[in-house]
Amino acid sequence: MSDVQEGHEHPEDSAELSYYAQRAQAIEALLEEKGLCTPEEVQQAVNTVESRSPADGARVVARAWVDPGFKQRLLADPRSAVEEMGYILPDANTQLAVLENTEDVHYLVVCTLCSCYPRNLLGRPPDWYKSLAYRSRAVIDPRGVMAEFGLELPGEMEVRVMDSTADMRYLVLPRRPAGTEGLSEEALARLVNRDSMIGVTDPFIPQAVASA
Ligand code: FE
Repeated sequence: MSDVQEGHEHPEDSAELSYYAQRAQAIEALLEEKGLCTPEEVQQAVNTVESRSPADGARVVARAWVDPGFKQRLLADPRSAVEEMGYILPDANTQLAVLENTEDVHYLVVCTLCSCYPRNLLGRPPDWYKSLAYRSRAVIDPRGVMAEFGLELPGEMEVRVMDSTADMRYLVLPRRPAGTEGLSEEALARLVNRDSMIGVTDPFIPQAVASA
C-alpha cells in the first residue's frame, strides 16, 4: 500500500463531521434499516437536487410567459404543469405553489424557520436565503430587503411575504419585462434570474430595451 493510500481517510470516517452531518447519517441509516428507503434512492434524490439549477425554474417561468394555457395550469396545479416539462416533484407531501406577480401584488418568499426552498426547480438555496438576517428581515421589512437587492417597488403595490414550510414550497412567477414581445422562449428564460423567482428582485431587462 502506498503512502498516499495509507494517508487516505474517508471523510465519513472522520470524527470531525459536523453535528448536522452526523445527524443526517444517523437518520439515513435508520431509514434504511427500517426499510423505508434504499441507499440507491437516497443517492438518486441527491443527484436530482444537485442537477437542478435556477436555469430549470427559468425555463418554467419563460414557458408561462409565452403560453397562457401552460400558465393557467401552472398556477392551478403546479405539480402536473412542471411534470409536463420533465420536472418531477417526488415527495407527494410537499406541495408547490406558484405565486404570480402582477401590477398590484409582489410576492417575496422566505423560510423563517430554516431554508425550505423549491430545490427540485431551483437547486440549492443561496447562503443569504438561509441567513438569520434574511429570515427575520424579510418579514419585518420586505421593502428594505428588496431595496438592497436593487428593487424599489411603487408604494401602492402590495407586498405579500410568503413563509415556506416543509409542506409548502413557493416559486414566484415574476412579471415579464416590458419590451420583450419579440423574444423567443429561450431568450426569455435567460432574463429570469434566481432572485426574481424568490421575489427579492425582478427579472433582467434586455440590454436593447434598457438602453433604448
Ligand atoms: Fe425551512
